[in-house]
Amino acid sequence: MRSRGVIARVPAKVNLQLAVGPLGTDGFHEVTTVFQAISLFDDVTVETAAENNGISIQVTGQTSTGVPSDSSNLAVKAATLMIKNYDLPSDINIKLKKEIPVAGGMAGGSADAAGVIVGLDSLFELGLSRDEMEMVGSKIGTDVPFSICGGVAIGTGRGDQITPALFKGSYNWVLALSGQGLATPSVYAECDRLREGLSISTPVVSEHLMQALRAGDAKALGKSLSNDLQPAACSLRPALRLVLDVGLDYGALGGIVSGSGPTVAFLVKDEEHAMDLTVALSSSGVISSVVRASGAVAGARIIESF
Ligand code: ATP
Repeated sequence: MRSRGVIARVPAKVNLQLAVGPLGTDGFHEVTTVFQAISLFDDVTVETAAENNGISIQVTGQTSTGVPSDSSNLAVKAATLMIKNYDLPSDINIKLKKEIPVAGGMAGGSADAAGVIVGLDSLFELGLSRDEMEMVGSKIGTDVPFSICGGVAIGTGRGDQITPALFKGSYNWVLALSGQGLATPSVYAECDRLREGLSISTPVVSEHLMQALRAGDAKALGKSLSNDLQPAACSLRPALRLVLDVGLDYGALGGIVSGSGPTVAFLVKDEEHAMDLTVALSSSGVISSVVRASGAVAGARIIESF
């Protein structure tokens, strides 16, 4: 039997704002976040496979090191749930070509899960709405719905309830990557430790930030970037403070730890500044590599069918 398949392209994200509420009795934090999808992509192939193959996965690409190729991979979890929910054939082959940094606070695993959901919807002509796919995605991980949605969106609840937001213009980013990731749960635990004894209010979206996005004003956006997890990420990885200083000294419009880190995202004025900052960061000796990207880009989408 010849296999049929599709390739979905899925973006990384940066959090322009990440407001973290108090620790709930369920062990989770209520968050309010503003996501932007940026032009760093994983390509996710899903294809039919021979009978009794089950779900198999192969991981390749620049950032494939350390990515599990068993049932703990979020892409496999997404396939398992889609097969169960929609009674799909259970023999599926998944191929991930990774470019998104792993454990970098850029939702790499969530992107792959989103690619599988959108890919299987297309491959088996399920005709699911974006809302339905986001609902499935939210069962896999909090960032999966945004990876499906793309663009710019506000996330509430645990960050998984997505409302697309208006924005103008395009934004240039320089991303300072660390050689070693930070585990999201340990960053939240450190955040709780640092906040012990403080009274924490309910997280709300920044009106300044939304206004900057609506106006397409990169300078104002740079000033409005905020992340409540940044002190915790910097406490666990003090070198991140140095990285932030280097970027701001070299004229970035704003700099922020992306999500739970350790990637640091700098917003810059234009391509030329992006190039200058890339050189400055590369020669600073405080980071392992630098990549450039722009936003906002579309969420998970099919780029090829075969
Ligand atoms: P987030 O920004 O959503 O908190 P992250 O970008 O910090 O996530 P991921 O790249 O999603 O982190 O990876 C976190 C961990 O998840 C990895 O260390 C890896 O063990 C595991 N993982 C499971 N599936 C994948 C996948 N498809 N790609 C990358 N990592 C995966």
